[in-house]
Amino acid sequence: MTDSTYAVMREDMVRRQIQYPCDDRPAVTDAGVLSAMRTVPRHRFVSLDLASAAYDDRPLPIGYEQTISQPYIVAVMTELLALEPNDTVLEVGTGSGYQTSVLAQIVRRVYSMEIVGALADAARQRLTELGYDNVEVRTGNGNLGWPEHAPFDAILATAAPVDVPRALLDQLQRGGRLVLPLGPVWRTQKLIRIDKKATGETSQRQIMTVGFVPMVKENRAVTEPTGGDLG
Ligand code: SAH
Repeated sequence: MTDSTYAVMREDMVRRQIQYPCDDRPAVTDAGVLSAMRTVPRHRFVSLDLASAAYDDRPLPIGYEQTISQPYIVAVMTELLALEPNDTVLEVGTGSGYQTSVLAQIVRRVYSMEIVGALADAARQRLTELGYDNVEVRTGNGNLGWPEHAPFDAILATAAPVDVPRALLDQLQRGGRLVLPLGPVWRTQKLIRIDKKATGETSQRQIMTVGFVPMVKENRAVTEPTGGDLG
């Protein structure tokens, strides 16, 4: 398939799944988010045998028992972050780097942490190949955040902790937004947005039910492959 074929599929994905969904899911309206979703070549973030499915309305495997999230969920989470062009964002759970690229299209700087070393390496290489020079990917436990670059205007986790990690709350700028799936059980996690007010107080709002992989809690980075096929 050619890049222009993928571009047609991508436009179709944005219109049918995200901008004008025909089922009862709420539409995403943020112009910056829609533009980023129209731009990032999602087929470059999955293995070749899955490229033709890259614009389908579902998550796809990326190896190491992890997945690239469904496009709609990527768009919803990005919109919830209420990003501004000058923002600095922390992402926990780089995975394929797809969500990272969507963020990098919108904001000034993205720091992304991934606990599986091989996924972090593959994502870093892919992001470089695609020309994203405003992203830094680090192998490590995102539960602890990235204190050297804190505070962050927005923080996004794409793996689900059972409780909101203290470090992420601490590293959130006053006025900032933290978006994450919360809860132990696959498919019954809640997508949460936490706002930190100018006073430092936080408020929390529940958006929808989601299904993410669990956030690894242990303070150790997985550097050896745990199985799966990266492609
Ligand atoms: N946003 C990704 C989807 C990632 S799936 C994408 O667009 O492709 C969630 C990822 O979180 C997995 O790659 C998993 O290895 C990673 N992860 C789980 N626990 C983590 C932790 N404590 N710190 C950093 N990454 C973690």
